[in-house]
Amino acid sequence: MDKLFIASSNAHKIKEIRKILSDNGFNTEVLCPKDFNDFEEVIEDGFTFKENAEIKARYYYGKYHLPTLADDSGICIDYFGGFPGLHSARFLGQYETYEKNEIILKMMKGIKNRKAHYICGLVYMDENGSRYYEGRFDGEISTYQNGTEGFGYDPIFYLPEYGKNAAEIKGIKDTTGHRFQALSKWIQDIK
Ligand code: IMP
Repeated sequence: MDKLFIASSNAHKIKEIRKILSDNGFNTEVLCPKDFNDFEEVIEDGFTFKENAEIKARYYYGKYHLPTLADDSGICIDYFGGFPGLHSARFLGQYETYEKNEIILKMMKGIKNRKAHYICGLVYMDENGSRYYEGRFDGEISTYQNGTEGFGYDPIFYLPEYGKNAAEIKGIKDTTGHRFQALSKWIQDIK
């Protein structure tokens, strides 16, 4: 495979995917919509991570005809019945990330059940059709916000086994995160 297209306009995700692929020996040229000056927004109206990833994969594969990886991901908070999940990007969308995380911390103040997990739904599409892979990363909603690694909810995503939030640990998601888990399955398959 000479070229691989990442069906996402989220710069953080693309950076993470590029790092995981290169750490795992991929020399493939990794392209994304920005490389084509393509800033089109794809409407993600699926009901599952898989459906949304398929929507993105189909859209971009149809446009560029390059082997395509599409990621749809989100954080599921047990106390909120799994919410925001699929709606993670739009949840409290009127707020900046820092503020949004502060609101979640407030909503969770004093709550004992802090369990949460990230899901990454990954669809790979090429001339042979599409395949789906899923990765999961377990943790908790922290009691504080801190750290500059990662993005989004990472500054409030606490990892009990490390005693720190994901954004406080450099490279943690590149070796154990939900995107890493899903990409590892794809890498095994493609090899
Ligand atoms: P998507 O681009 O529609 O898949 O939205 C993904 C959203 O889920 C992001 O905008 C973040 O809010 C959240 N999210 C997914 N993966 C991560 C992660 O690795 N760290 C922090 N937030 C994430």
